Amino acid sequence: MMNNNEMLLLKLGEVVLKGLNRHSFEEKLVNNVRRRMRTCGKFQITLRQSTIYVEPLNDECDMDAAYAACRQVFGIAAIARAVPCAKTMESITKTARTYLADEFATARTFKVESKRADKLFPMTSIQISQEVGGNLADLFPHVAVDVHNPDLTVYVEIRENSAYVHAPSVPGAGGLPVGMGGHAVSLLSGGLDSPVSSWMMARRGVELEMVHFVSPPYTSQQAQDKVLQLAQELTAYCGRMLVHVVPFTEIQEEIRKNCPEEFFTLIMRRFMMRLAQAVAKKAGAKALITGESLGQVASQTMMALAVTDDVAQMPVLRPLIGMDKVEIIRIAREIGTYDTSILPYEDCCTVFTPRHPATRPNLDEVREAESRLDVEGLVSKAMAGETWIRVKP
Ligand code: ATP
Ligand code: MG
Repeated sequence: MMNNNEMLLLKLGEVVLKGLNRHSFEEKLVNNVRRRMRTCGKFQITLRQSTIYVEPLNDECDMDAAYAACRQVFGIAAIARAVPCAKTMESITKTARTYLADEFATARTFKVESKRADKLFPMTSIQISQEVGGNLADLFPHVAVDVHNPDLTVYVEIRENSAYVHAPSVPGAGGLPVGMGGHAVSLLSGGLDSPVSSWMMARRGVELEMVHFVSPPYTSQQAQDKVLQLAQELTAYCGRMLVHVVPFTEIQEEIRKNCPEEFFTLIMRRFMMRLAQAVAKKAGAKALITGESLGQVASQTMMALAVTDDVAQMPVLRPLIGMDKVEIIRIAREIGTYDTSILPYEDCCTVFTPRHPATRPNLDEVREAESRLDVEGLVSKAMAGETWIRVKP
């Protein structure tokens, strides 16, 4: 398919179900698309009748890049590359013939499916399909009409300003526009899980800010760079974001010095929650997100999660809680974070892992073990060392 007028039609997803909020959903989505198109050239982006029109304004626009970027914008159900033309049967036929020439060359059967959004247009959609279908059948005598199971479906849409011709649309990223679901802080490690959990909540419209804990000299600069790279990969879906980097060494050393080994990880996780919460409060975020999955490791049993949640004063969203590792890996591959996640750098969690972690911890015992530490002092000291990095698509 090649054509200088080519543009994109983005069909709105779940957004259309939102009743009175619909207007703000649409506005958010259009803005998100607009922001994402900036690196692909100059486009006119308009919304009419539950469709966003992405039209290039000059020849320098990179349509392949625009198409790829739109496929990663949450809130879009389907995407088609299309060509506009005059609202006459001749013009529509001519456009379909040239724009879909390659598709016709390989198809043995086809049909035309028409939609008439412009109700003033003098022909019905069935009449349009019949006439354009007849014309195309004459132009491509080797391709027969088959309305039931065609190799190629030619779509014709008659809208207010133009007619549009396109081949079948492909699924969009689905979900809700980022920004409509509130603002949360996601705990991002270098592993497989947390990029996936971040992506899943972004798909529900949540705007993300990341927090990453580092424990130099036990963790390396490469480990931190890997996390920044994961955040970078996520910006294709989530848009630009801040990554807060919080020093965690002293907390871990204090835990190791003062607490029973079986509780190391649990107490460490309680500190992670407190620090993530401090970041969230500063940022005005209303929830935390983790990549925990029930039973995956000792700190992710039901009782261990209760010990962690004990210090949380805001919802902790755990979208992977009921997912198997194979499902998580499949999503990581699909969204493009897998290859980075498997790079072999140490995470602060793996530095002081107990040999026999408590899997059925008693909350009072953990609290009591933790009370040997200056919890508030350690939290404020770590927060004083917080830095942040802005990551852009
Ligand atoms: P992942 O694959 O995401 O690293 P995991 O299965 O290895 O997860 P844990 O290491 O116990 O599990 O971590 C559970 C969750 O805690 C992670 O999914 C992440 O949300 C958070 N987390 C762990 N380590 C860090 C870190 N260094 N910085 C920020 N968050 C972290
Ligand atoms: Mg991890």
